Amino acid sequence: MGKAEEMDEESENDALNQLYEETNYWHINKGDEQIYAKRIPGKFRNIKWATASLYLFYFLGPYMRWDGEQAILFDIPGRKYHIFGLTIWPQDMWMLALVLLTFFLLLYATTTFAGRVFCGYFCWQTIWVDIYTWIEEKVEGPPHIRKALDNAPWTAKKIAIKSGKNSVFLFLSWLTGFTFTAYFIDVYDLWSRTIALEGPIYIWTVPLTFLIGSYIGVAILREQICFWMCPYARIQGVMSDPETIMPTYDYKRGEKRARLKKGDPAPDTGDCVDCHLCVAVCPVGIDIRHGQQEGCITCGLCIDACDTIMDKVKRPKGLIRYMSLDELIGKPPIPLFKRGRMWVYSTLILLSFAGITYGLANMGAMKLTVIHERQPLYTQLSDGSIQNKYTLKIVNKTDGEMTLKIYIKGIDNAILSTRPKVITAPSGKVLAVQAFVKVKPENLSDEHEPIIFYVENNANEEMKSRYKSTFIAH
Ligand code: SF4
Ligand code: SF4
Repeated sequence: MGKAEEMDEESENDALNQLYEETNYWHINKGDEQIYAKRIPGKFRNIKWATASLYLFYFLGPYMRWDGEQAILFDIPGRKYHIFGLTIWPQDMWMLALVLLTFFLLLYATTTFAGRVFCGYFCWQTIWVDIYTWIEEKVEGPPHIRKALDNAPWTAKKIAIKSGKNSVFLFLSWLTGFTFTAYFIDVYDLWSRTIALEGPIYIWTVPLTFLIGSYIGVAILREQICFWMCPYARIQGVMSDPETIMPTYDYKRGEKRARLKKGDPAPDTGDCVDCHLCVAVCPVGIDIRHGQQEGCITCGLCIDACDTIMDKVKRPKGLIRYMSLDELIGKPPIPLFKRGRMWVYSTLILLSFAGITYGLANMGAMKLTVIHERQPLYTQLSDGSIQNKYTLKIVNKTDGEMTLKIYIKGIDNAILSTRPKVITAPSGKVLAVQAFVKVKPENLSDEHEPIIFYVENNANEEMKSRYKSTFIAH
């Protein structure tokens, strides 16, 4: 071995020894101690930042405008919801139910495929904990300094550092609640009322509730929420199977683990150099080398950590990697399209999407429903004509009042009369109108004739709705 190679090896060993010393600070979390997770760069860390940045939309959402109005506004007193120019009325709420259903099905499908990816990359709680610990590192320093500070007696310096950090935490917690409130009241109105210290009680209680809840949940309890309180963590076991891929330690390759000593490791040791870096970076403080675990949020940060070490010790990456339990024991992987669960989830998601698309395509400015009178089904008038009675339910989904005309098609010379005669539909309300259709027997060719009712806005004939019903003669 040349002198340069010997020096390289020595400096690598020094770096590893330093790492071993550093990682002595970390333990496996049993729920009774503070986690001081180390932050290191890597592919999964970048993915985590990218998904966390999606939450910027949450904070910027209330400031987005559409036609001069707030683009996303849940107007509870007006019982309508504005989403980018689309007004959703209580009658259309079934579509929101389908959106929620789609979301849950996607959660089921992704968990079956890749475990708790939602927890690792998208969940509000884990992302907020990640951002809070990033701030903590900026204010207090790296993990071993933070731990030493926590164990140190209270001094003026410690009080100043802790107060600074907690002030930032409290401000962010309040901002989270304030932003949430701004989805229910125009954000500029909310700012001016908040600054003027006036307005309804909820503009104070909602941000305050968030402030307390976020601070306790994110700044204090942190990963304990995932361990003990999150219902999704409890039920994920029924969604995953041996084909689900998760960050997994390849024990066949890694064991028997052994710390690196100067020179090559003994020939009977595995690739794991027992550096503990995978434990040190884990935000929930678990040791993935003990196998896939309930507490793992599948964030992949231990993969980044181990790949860094494998690079350093010049061994192939992927000692910890996304893989299934079947793959771990050497079974061939089953393609996604051969997994029954994925077929069920995909079919349900497609049906749900189809429902939402149908709803959006048929969401006009007005909606008409026609109910045929059951008792009696028809009456014969003194001039021999047959009369049917209907109740028309008209929903005006626009923001203004509408004067409507009603007409029918489908039966020749049918005469329509309504009660009331002049029909004015108020905004956002369901208007009931009695309608009578009179037809001479010679104009009827069957006992049941199809008949179509139309309602049309007098001021805009494009705004109309139709409903197909039946005229009963016998
Ligand atoms: S074990 Fe790995 S993937 Fe699981 S939570 Fe810890 S760092 Fe994330
Ligand atoms: S699995 Fe990788 S990161 Fe974890 S102790 Fe072994 S070598 Fe270190």
